[in-house]
Amino acid sequence: MVDTLTIGSTRGSNPTTEHNRFGLDYRKEAAFFAPPVVPILDAHLHINGAHAAVHFLEAAHLYGATRFLSMTRLEEVNAIRDLFQDSIRFIAMADYKTTDPRETLGVGFARRIRDYHALGSRVAKFWCAPRARDQGADLGDPSLFDLDAPSRRPAMDEAASLGMTFMAHVADPDTWFATKYANASRYGTKSSHYEALERAIDRYPVPWIIAHMGGWPENIDFLDGLLSRHANVHLDTSATKWMVRELGRYDTARITTFLRRWQGRIFFGSDTVTTDDHLHGAQKVGEMAVKASNAAQAFELYASRYWTLRTMWETAWVGESPIADPDLSMVDSVRYSTNDAPPLVGRALPRDLLESLYAGAATRLIWGP
Ligand SMILES: [Zn+2]
Repeated sequence: MVDTLTIGSTRGSNPTTEHNRFGLDYRKEAAFFAPPVVPILDAHLHINGAHAAVHFLEAAHLYGATRFLSMTRLEEVNAIRDLFQDSIRFIAMADYKTTDPRETLGVGFARRIRDYHALGSRVAKFWCAPRARDQGADLGDPSLFDLDAPSRRPAMDEAASLGMTFMAHVADPDTWFATKYANASRYGTKSSHYEALERAIDRYPVPWIIAHMGGWPENIDFLDGLLSRHANVHLDTSATKWMVRELGRYDTARITTFLRRWQGRIFFGSDTVTTDDHLHGAQKVGEMAVKASNAAQAFELYASRYWTLRTMWETAWVGESPIADPDLSMVDSVRYSTNDAPPLVGRALPRDLLESLYAGAATRLIWGP
């Protein structure tokens, strides 16, 4: 278990960065944590770039994560598997680099799902963030990416016929609906995205994993309803900054009651993204600012997620998060700067809830014996 007195005690050892606001030595800190009650299965990752992935693996192993479920580009699956061997499984994902919607979402995605399945994938990801309305518009149909859109059917039919689990990203943080998605006629209300999701869940009675605490950690009363209405729905707790900020608003009793009520249906995830761009000092890739520019920073980025999530779930830590959360200033630029962070509220979960969250639930659904 975690030595609560010593975590954070390496403060000031390293330069401060957006993912290390206290200048922690994440290698030394890991020794204060190890080992978790069960080896961690991280059920939500984006592992790409075989060079960056080496640094991810170091961080993961230091913090007790030993099995990985990853959205890796089809073209990189073999290289990543060479590195991870049997410790990784892959989630089939669309190729967003194509400009033809039939290729991105339709028959092209169905074909990729078959290819991923042949490589052992048993989960397919259906992504629908509100900003997909912009991408849809560019491809000639703003509703193209909606989870209940006809354009989804070829890929969903294929995945269902192969007996795969569906993973969905629906909606986005409330902070984004208050700002960049404020135009509801373009992006829809947050609720409207769940209406489409629930229609899709009714159409495909397969197991579903709804990422990022169902996309609505701001409203776990709603999640109670979603999980009661659909016995085939599971959630992952991935997206570290989002979870720390929004789950931090509840008292521990509410969090614990929720996890106990739905024990076996909630999976641990970090949503860590690895890319070789983290090693090369590039400033920007597409719309994403690169969050690291050399191996040392890449390691810190990856380790920061595990340090923070294990602190949240396992310890009685009370203090700020070591990871800057720019959403705070996005909603309130008077009170916050982009370097500020929300409280990180340690939950010190009981052992049986940790076992189920860290490994048991996801093992049962997607890993098997
Ligand atoms: Zn993700």
